[in-house]
Amino acid sequence: MQTAKPQNQAATAQDGASAPASAPTEPPLLPDRRKTRRTWETPPAPAPQPRLDHYQGVVGEAEIAELRFLARDLKGKTIKMVNSTAVGGGVAEMLNRLVPLINELEVPTHWDVITGGNDFFELTKAFHNALHGGAYELTRQAQEIFLMYDEQNRQRMSFTEDMIVIHDPQPAALIRARADCDASWAWRCHIDLSNPNPQLWGFLRPFIEQYDAAIFSSSSFTRQLPIPQYLFYPCIDPISEKNKELDDATVQKVCDEFGVDRSRPIVTQVSRFDRLKDPVGVVQAFKLARKYVDCQLVLAGGGASDDPEGTIVLKEVKEAAGSDPDIIILDLPPWCALEINALQRASTVVVQKSIREGFGLTVTEALWKSKPTIAAAVGGIPNQIIHKLTGMLVHSVEGCAYQIRYLLTHPELARQLGKNGHEHVKENFLMTTNMRRWLLLFRILLTKRGILP
Ligand code: UDP
Repeated sequence: MQTAKPQNQAATAQDGASAPASAPTEPPLLPDRRKTRRTWETPPAPAPQPRLDHYQGVVGEAEIAELRFLARDLKGKTIKMVNSTAVGGGVAEMLNRLVPLINELEVPTHWDVITGGNDFFELTKAFHNALHGGAYELTRQAQEIFLMYDEQNRQRMSFTEDMIVIHDPQPAALIRARADCDASWAWRCHIDLSNPNPQLWGFLRPFIEQYDAAIFSSSSFTRQLPIPQYLFYPCIDPISEKNKELDDATVQKVCDEFGVDRSRPIVTQVSRFDRLKDPVGVVQAFKLARKYVDCQLVLAGGGASDDPEGTIVLKEVKEAAGSDPDIIILDLPPWCALEINALQRASTVVVQKSIREGFGLTVTEALWKSKPTIAAAVGGIPNQIIHKLTGMLVHSVEGCAYQIRYLLTHPELARQLGKNGHEHVKENFLMTTNMRRWLLLFRILLTKRGILP
């Protein structure tokens, strides 16, 4: 078993495998005695802002022309997007790309972030978990804190735009400002609301009902509401570091750095070290499959160093892997988009054996790279994997092992699944598709409100 470390530590000594007999007297050198850090050990410079033309090569001229056409009547109409954080997390990542692109279409779009103290963000983290179905007792004090920060944000922000889009529950009560403006208001819910804590949902629901529309990421994530609901799948950006095309030399370089042998089949799962991603189940499935077919397993994850539970899960995974040299466990820092891209592209088969899942963007990423993908039938994964058409859905360790073995021994079917998966993502889960949905929604809601003729 190999473990890549983000820090300047020799992996073998850290893992207790073969520490040198006598301690070196000179300052410790980097792993394998390099003088310079490996590329993935330091954050890269931020990527430049995307422009619509950059997508033309990926989705074609017609799709970009369609976006420009849809935006024509919206020119000069103003949009405000509000969420709870400017960095970190999928929503911020998506807004970072979406907002400049809509602006480029001459639809002035402003992105605002709510502020709050630690007490507010601790509370909204607890709300987040409770909305996913966790046990929670909503106290009067919690409601007061939530509304107090909402009041502060309402005072601080102005709502002079034509269209206001509020993302997720943290800023949802800002709808109380709607009485003072003519805008159309939409609530974009990125989380799975299918089984919320009833008391908390009872508190939030009256706010949501005041919006003109609610948008969910999957039909299985929605609630019964008296307002129109729209389905917007999450999306990936095909020209980002995580998903852009890579030349073979880059893929090879990353594999060399991580000790991945490209001459043998590679099975990969990319995921945080979290029990709900079932990395131990992946190790078990891999070991079962490998009895019949030669392969290596790459488990690439992150976040273990700053998440106490992640550290425990990583330890469990290492224990399950034992000293198996064909299991490569990579605990990567958060900026390793390019490395993840390369590992996904180097893979023969990609696995996502989650026990619970949101939409499962790692699956989208793998399908985009035309990888035969085996994933658990949970959360938004069945929206992406149509069994035996765009990938394989599984329900157990044994099922996962069977499909690994099957796909590794049926390369023609595997290739066809990957090809179909790529087309499915191109049609439904790309940034440009997402933009098209936003532009259509703005047109519908602004027309309803009489802001557009
Ligand atoms: N990811 C990453 N580094 C890691 C593990 C995951 O950059 O070590 C990325 C992964 O490529 C994907 C996202 O984090 O873009 C995970 O999204 P997903 O919806 O699959 O799961 P979540 O972690 O949000 O539950």
